[in-house]
Order: sequence, then C-alpha cells, then structure tokens
Amino acid sequence: MKVLILGGGVIGVTSAWYLARAGHEVTLVERQPEVALETSFANAGMLSFDYSTPWGGPGVPLKAVKWSLQEISPLHFNLKEFDLNTVSWLLKMLAQCNSDAFNINKERMLRVARYSRDCFAALRNELPIQYDGRQRGTLVVFRTPEQIEAAEKDLAVLRKSHILHELIDREACIRAEPALANVRDKVAGGLSLPGDETGDCHKFTQSLAQSCRELGVNFMLNTRIDGLQTKGNDIEFVQTSAGELRADAYLMALGSYSPLMLAPLDIHLPVYPLKGYSLTMPVLDESRSPVSTVMDEASKVAITRFDDRIRVGGIAEIASYNTQLDQKRRRTIEHSVRDLFPGAGDVDNATFWTGLRPMTPDSVPVLGPTQYKNLWLNTGHGTLGWTMSMGSAHFISDMISGRTPEIDPAGLSLARYS
Ligand SMILES: Cc1cc2nc3c(=O)[nH]c(=O)nc-3n(C[C@H](O)[C@H](O)[C@H](O)COP(=O)(O)OP(=O)(O)OC[C@H]3O[C@@H](n4cnc5c(N)ncnc54)[C@H](O)[C@@H]3O)c2cc1C
Repeated sequence: MKVLILGGGVIGVTSAWYLARAGHEVTLVERQPEVALETSFANAGMLSFDYSTPWGGPGVPLKAVKWSLQEISPLHFNLKEFDLNTVSWLLKMLAQCNSDAFNINKERMLRVARYSRDCFAALRNELPIQYDGRQRGTLVVFRTPEQIEAAEKDLAVLRKSHILHELIDREACIRAEPALANVRDKVAGGLSLPGDETGDCHKFTQSLAQSCRELGVNFMLNTRIDGLQTKGNDIEFVQTSAGELRADAYLMALGSYSPLMLAPLDIHLPVYPLKGYSLTMPVLDESRSPVSTVMDEASKVAITRFDDRIRVGGIAEIASYNTQLDQKRRRTIEHSVRDLFPGAGDVDNATFWTGLRPMTPDSVPVLGPTQYKNLWLNTGHGTLGWTMSMGSAHFISDMISGRTPEIDPAGLSLARYS
C-alpha cells in the first residue's frame, strides 16, 4: 500500500519507520530542509514513561491563578494573542480538571507511554541508534517541606498505576545526583522515578530517518502541504508545493499545525499550540552537572544531561501560534539551572529555543481513524511527544496495516471528543 505521511517531526518519522517495516511504500512530506526542525528539535529530552501525567488535574485551576501572578512561573498567559480558539481550548482543558477525568486521562497516557518504552528498547536492540540516550531515571527535586507534603498526596496515583517510585530524603537525592551536594541547602527531598530515560529527540529523529531511507522511505523535504482534497468519504490527494500527491492512505502528523489542515475537512481536532522554551549549553564542569533529568518542582523546569551538553526546558505559554523568543522566559529557565547546578554549563553561551507543543485538553494524543476512510491521525502529543513517539507510531502503523494493535485502542481516537 502507498502511504503518505504529512509531517517530519518525531511522530512522522517514527511512523515512517514502522510503516516501512510493515512493507508499505512510504513517502513523508515535510516543509523544512530536514526532519525534526520544529517542535521535535530541542525539547527537554525526558522520556517520561512513568512521569506521564495529564496537565489538567483537580488543583490546577487554582495553581494556574497563583502562577499567573508570579514572574518566575511555569505558566504564562500572553493576553495579546488570545482569540476564540484559545478561549474555547482553555474551557475544554478546564473541564478536565477533576479527579475522574484525571484518572481516565492518566491511564490512557500511561498505556501509550509504557508501550513506547518497550518499542524504544526493541529498537535499541535492533539499530545502533545514537541519541545521547541514558536509562537513569528522573529525579523530581522538592525545595520545601510543603512541596514534599503535596507530593505525598499524589503517591497513591503512582501506587495505583504500579509505577516504580520512591520518595527520598536530601542525602538520597545527592547520591542519585551528586552535583546537588553543591546546593545541599536548597534541596528538601525528592521523588525518584527510576524507570524513566533521557535522550536528544532531534538526534534520534535524524538518525531514524537515515534508517528509514535505507528501508526505501522517500523524504520530500522543503515541500509545503497546502491542503487535502476530498472525494466522498476519501482523501483524493494532498495539494503541496510540489504538486498533487496521491496515496492509498494518508497519515496526519503535523503536530500543532494538524488542526489547521483538518478544519476545512470538518474534522475538529482540539489541539492547541502550547508554547515552551529551552536552553542548550555545553557542559563546563562534569562534576557540577546532572547525570540524568532533574525536574525542579518549584518552576517545573527539567534539567537534562546529554553527553556533553545540558538541556533545560519548560514553561507553558498560552500565546497561540506566536513563535517569537521572549527573553523574559529565558530568565525562568536560566534561574533553575544556575540555582541547582551552578557552574555546570556555559549558560551565557546557551542556545535559546522555542517550540509549540501540540496539546489536547486531556493531554492524551489522538491516534486512529477519521470519518475519511483513508485518513489517519497520529498527533496531539503535547508535553510528551518524544516519550510517546515510538508507541504511538507502532500503534498507528498496525491500525493502517489492518493488524490488531498491541495495546487497547479504547479512548485514544478522535471519537472520544464527540
Ligand atoms: C519546551 C518543550 C519541552 C518539551 N519536553 C519534552 C520532553 O521532555 N519529553 C517529551 O516526551 N516531550 C517533550 N516535549 C513535547 C515534544 O517535543 C512534542 O510533543 C513533539 O516534538 C511533537 O512532535 P510532532 O512530530 O507531533 O510535531 P513536530 O515536531 O512539530 O512535527 C510536525 C512537522 O510538521 C511540519 N509541518 C507543519 N506544517 C506543515 C505544512 N503545512 N507543510 C509541510 N510540513 C509541515 C513541521 O515542519 C514539523 O516538522 C516538549 C516540547 C517543548 C516545546
């Protein structure tokens, strides 16, 4: 079967891998000169198979109000960019902020994320893929006893989900991340999630794209997708800057831009471009650097070690499709790394970056069919697209190939919103 993949981020490329492996003739269309140059370029590098948590939870609206009044904050509202779409998405997100929805959404996220962990492990056994990957867990650092107390309330959810975790004291935090000894007084305790991993999503995607090419995948780079032409219940062709492209099946993997492409087809995908930022810097002093991911609970900033670099990422800014780099946000992420790992990386010469997370109101990606027989969705991965990439891609490839997926599809498709 001829399959056309729309979008060359980590989601499109992992999909290309599994679809080509399943024997299909795969073409991937991407507007950039290479794959993974947009949201998949410089994310925080966490493979949070166990730390997968929906954004919408019971206490979130109150926290959001508090955060919006702080300068160093994980959440910002750019009111100048507010439009009807923003307000409508925020209302949908608010509707998810209760414990029933939280539990349902968490189970769905974990289902995909854990499957993804297995798929990553299988891939590492099969390919010599280099992506600064480490399997050394996540440490969430609490700075105050109040933060520890708040975390204790969430432990029941981790236990219920059978997630390997341990609430640890300051000394155990330092054993896990020895550089924290330099700021001993700033650490009150931590939550260790040993099953999580780390790695550079951009390196991974580029490397996997090379393996896809060896399997015969055709990459049409520098090619803009302008729209999808329908005929009855089918997609007839995709209009691009390189002309009309036809296939037997089409897979939507345009990240935050997916809803814009689907709206003219009367497919209403509630995906919002949630803006985030990162800094990437060379390691200056190995002994002062993290060994894996340290999540600063106060600012929700993740500090991740790659081989000879440190990536610091976070912040959720409600700013529609605005991709300007706001220097004020840089201060928030700089603050975390300077405060917890002083002297570790060359912060002054760090590369500042922004990306748009394709966020659904329930934090669960949208995987599955549409009302058009030959159009499939693999999009809306929000804060955890790198984590869920391999699992989502294996799942959608099985569906397109007419095979029974290895995980339960319940609640993952667009139908859950209708
Ligand atoms: C600051 C930040 C930190 C993050 N940290 C983590 C993390 O630690 N762990 C984690 O798991 N996830 C993280 N994420 C989320 C993760 O990066 C995303 O979920 C993931 O990259 C989404 O991948 P994608 O392929 O769907 O989107 P993208 O990577 O954006 O890919 C979509 C592609 O479609 C292309 N495209 C769009 N429109 C067109 C068009 N008209 N024509 C042709 N091509 C088009 C784009 O060029 C792009 O390459 C983070 C995100 C941000 C912003």
